[in-house]
Amino acid sequence: MRLDADQMLAVLNALPDPVFLLTESGLYAGLFGHADPNYYHDGHDLVGSSVPEVVSPEAAEWIMQNIHKALEQDGLIKVEYQLSADQVAGLEGAVGPDGMIWFEGHVQPFPHRVNGERAVVWIARNITRRKLLEEELLQASQTDPLTHTANRRHLMEVLEEHFEEFRRYRHPMAMIMFDLDHFKQLNDRHGHLTGDAVLRSLCKACKSLLRANDLLARFGGEEFVIVLPSTTAAQAASTAERMRTHLSEAVARELGDELAVTVSLGVSELLHSDSNYEQVMHRVDQALYRAKRAGRNRVVVHDA
Ligand code: GH3
Ligand code: MG
Ligand code: MG
Repeated sequence: MRLDADQMLAVLNALPDPVFLLTESGLYAGLFGHADPNYYHDGHDLVGSSVPEVVSPEAAEWIMQNIHKALEQDGLIKVEYQLSADQVAGLEGAVGPDGMIWFEGHVQPFPHRVNGERAVVWIARNITRRKLLEEELLQASQTDPLTHTANRRHLMEVLEEHFEEFRRYRHPMAMIMFDLDHFKQLNDRHGHLTGDAVLRSLCKACKSLLRANDLLARFGGEEFVIVLPSTTAAQAASTAERMRTHLSEAVARELGDELAVTVSLGVSELLHSDSNYEQVMHRVDQALYRAKRAGRNRVVVHDA
């Protein structure tokens, strides 16, 4: 059997995702499908207008670039982008999902002229759920579940990036490593769960002392690393000193004086002679070891 024209049109309009026919000058020449308002706003009124008339200049430029790219490459291109209904003139009042929607665009050259112009078929699939899930997974893969600080894997990634910036632009970066003093005793006396609560309380207090760009990471057990971009070892040393007094007080205030743990801290910075970030990690580790040897509850700066 063959489908007649009406049936073909019915098929087009039953396509689950919006299918735009867009010309190389940005004219919305046709729009099919996307009948379900749980996923899409009805955009049929866009037909006849052009891209620069309905979205911001930046968004329009980006859309036009991708139309031209698909035409020049003469093949399918795939893009991902965010757009909300109130960013598209004419869709403001339309029924559909609230807020930002993530789209996956598939842009395919159309093999016929439309209005005398070259054109593309642009399918825009709502992938918001997948994107949010991806973000959650990424977040989980970078986070320590107990303390909600960065985990060791994320720490290494961030250090790799900072080291690259240091190598290229000589942006300074300091590092603090700290370890709880006699934490085993605290666990033995009060139990492991109380120990866990101490770690959480301490991390919360620590974050409140840091700047937005600093990164607190759980390096392992009860040992933590702080990465301080655009900071020298001397500046980091005064942060470390403030932490030494503040962390102990904050934990005692939250959980009681009997849980007032102290910390020992080692401080260093990236040096011009470093050929990788492991070298600064080695220096903070040595400085921390010296702080422990010297009696704990103190800051030691590794001298260059
Ligand atoms: P020091 O001052 O030399 O650091 O002594 P310490 O007792 O803190 O050091 P040690 O390395 O001997 O012991 C670390 C303890 O940290 C032992 C371990 O049970 C505890 N610990 C490591 N991870 C966790 C955790 O996730 N939760 C709890 N409650 N304890 C932990
Ligand atoms: Mg310890
Ligand atoms: Mg330790």
